[in-house]
Amino acid sequence: MSFCKTPAVTLKRSDYRDSSQIITFYTRDYGKIQTLAKGLKRSVKGVSGGIDLLTYNNIVFIHRERSSLNILTEWVLQDNFHSLRDNLKKSHSAFYILELIREFTEENDKNEPLFDLFINTLSEIASRGDSTVSILAFEIQMLALLGHLPEMKHCVTCKANLNSKRFAFFSALECGLFCSHCGKDIKERVKISGGTIATINYLASKTRKERLAIQQSLQIEIRNLLRYYISFLLSKELKMWKYL
Ligand SMILES: [Zn+2]
Repeated sequence: MSFCKTPAVTLKRSDYRDSSQIITFYTRDYGKIQTLAKGLKRSVKGVSGGIDLLTYNNIVFIHRERSSLNILTEWVLQDNFHSLRDNLKKSHSAFYILELIREFTEENDKNEPLFDLFINTLSEIASRGDSTVSILAFEIQMLALLGHLPEMKHCVTCKANLNSKRFAFFSALECGLFCSHCGKDIKERVKISGGTIATINYLASKTRKERLAIQQSLQIEIRNLLRYYISFLLSKELKMWKYL
């Protein structure tokens, strides 16, 4: 038994027996963890729920060797991203980022750069007007940090450089791009523009991006491509897509 302290964001809550909750956190030092918050449901001065979803806390928990359920002993709220909560579009965008983290991360798999990207993106969505580019950048950088980014520079078959081509084919199944010649034989594919390829490579190369203006038609093409690839990776559609 040992006490562990770490920055953490709440990903999920569910009631446990009469008075407790199970809270899933994404933490900087331990990756995704599940904790049991004993007595939390009723004990917090009449405030139901205790710890809100999508809040940034410093937590202390007891790690138990023989159980995946840790015991939450202490938490101090750092940021509840207040300005996300009174704007529906920002709030949907932030909950989508949360859904991506919940779906793509494994328990106890620490990834500090991904935690920092998560926090920075939530702050960015909270402070900026339009969150569309923040979401696209997060999706691409998260895939890169988790080793899921497909081959987006060269043709998977002939290795031709595709960064400056007018268009290419993308296949989720083959995990990358094909030139117009090699792509002819690929059955499961989508056609994408050179602008989309260049923009994805630009966003993948920046961990903190400068504000980038992306034409709306490109934003839509990149979004559709990422949804096609993400739904292939997870074998399902994500719940928040219909709200974005
Ligand atoms: Zn080729």
